[in-house]
Amino acid sequence: MLKNDLLDQWDRENFFHPSTHLAQHARGDSPSRVIKTASGVYIEDRDGHKLLDAFAGLYCVNAGYGRQEITDAIAAQAKELAYYHSYVGHGTEASITLSKMILDRAPANMSKVYFGLGGSDANETNIKLIWYYNNILGRPEKKKIISRWRGYHGSGLVTGSLTGLELFHKKFDLPLANVLHTQAPYYFRREDLGQSEAEFVAHCVTSLEEMIAREGADTIAAFIGEPVLGTGGIVPPPAGYWPAIQEVLKKHDILLVVDEVVTGFGRLGSMFGSDHYGLEADIITIAKGLTSAYAPLSGSIIGEKLWKVLEQGTDENGPIGHGWTYSAHPICAAAGVANLKVIEALDLMNNARDLGAYLKGALADALGDHPHVGDVRGEGLLCAVEFVKDKDDRIFFDTSEKIGPQISAALLAQSQVIARAMPQGDILGFAPPFCLTHAEADIVVAATVQAVGAVLG
Ligand code: PMP
Repeated sequence: MLKNDLLDQWDRENFFHPSTHLAQHARGDSPSRVIKTASGVYIEDRDGHKLLDAFAGLYCVNAGYGRQEITDAIAAQAKELAYYHSYVGHGTEASITLSKMILDRAPANMSKVYFGLGGSDANETNIKLIWYYNNILGRPEKKKIISRWRGYHGSGLVTGSLTGLELFHKKFDLPLANVLHTQAPYYFRREDLGQSEAEFVAHCVTSLEEMIAREGADTIAAFIGEPVLGTGGIVPPPAGYWPAIQEVLKKHDILLVVDEVVTGFGRLGSMFGSDHYGLEADIITIAKGLTSAYAPLSGSIIGEKLWKVLEQGTDENGPIGHGWTYSAHPICAAAGVANLKVIEALDLMNNARDLGAYLKGALADALGDHPHVGDVRGEGLLCAVEFVKDKDDRIFFDTSEKIGPQISAALLAQSQVIARAMPQGDILGFAPPFCLTHAEADIVVAATVQAVGAVLG
């Protein structure tokens, strides 16, 4: 085994870490954290510290760590057939089985699954297919995509553009043309504090309608959104938001892409967020929970309406000019099949729903009256606590104070519990594996109370 010092040195010298302050890391100001093993909701670092992972990695290890059914399936597939491609009609039993399992569980009117590796490339696929679709339909000007401020859809060129967070645009020359951002359905951060929830929803709808009128509906191809805003702050939509938005989209013949990378396969306590909120998607993006991150796999579930036109397009133009080498990689597909079986055999989706309600309730009970806790919110096993400087007048802390990161760091240092400081605002996010128990939820809540006390008094 490598000595810690050498590992730290090699890490700093060689490893370009994503979403990391590169200069600080290279200077050694932020410690390398090397994870060695994991089981259930716990991960263990190289020094044997056990950390309770209340964010399931990057809200992806839904089945929990160390599931032998999944690792066995991966090993068996690697032995039998580690790889073959899926171009020109090729496939494997694992990839075909997984596409059938996904469609059997998907909302109505879904037709086919296109596999990718991660959420970003799946959303790139979606936008390309939507542009292809409108070209085949003879409306080449209908190409713009509307996303929301604070939406997160990836960090590629188009998907980083769709992501409505400044950090992902700044200095990268993004967003690209053809990407527009509209109002986030974030009631707690409404500008007009006097607005009721219903008035705020009406404001979101009006903003969207004004944007469509300004740009011209014949230039707008699609609207993309997560059922619950994730990385942008873990924000469930206000009541009535989705039905009202869907009505506008239908009126203007604008496709709906529902990004279920976080919500797909049970995190909200329903198989899909689309089921949860009654969304009628044209395309659904899936990733993370599809394999519980045991292997990288994503998918675009394509609705029947699009599929028909894509088929027509290939009759007119030849094979679809879009493919990844690792599309439907058999090892990843085998992980997906085993993962969905584990989730269902152990009834983990219902556990996610029940424990989510318990965790949110316990956080609200313990912290709701704290003078600097402005909001405790969540849906299913996805919740957040948002901190404010002044609760009565809802004044936020200055970002330079880094209150969210400080609380997350205190939580880790004092209690070995991981919750995520969300990237924009002082928001602590919780999205543990679905196998969380009541006792583990209690540990998370007690640790959070202690960390909040240490930073904010
Ligand atoms: N969409 C959503 C809703 C996500 O949360 C993420 C990742 N957090 C992505 C897309 C991008 O996925 P990936 O990082 O696998 O490319």
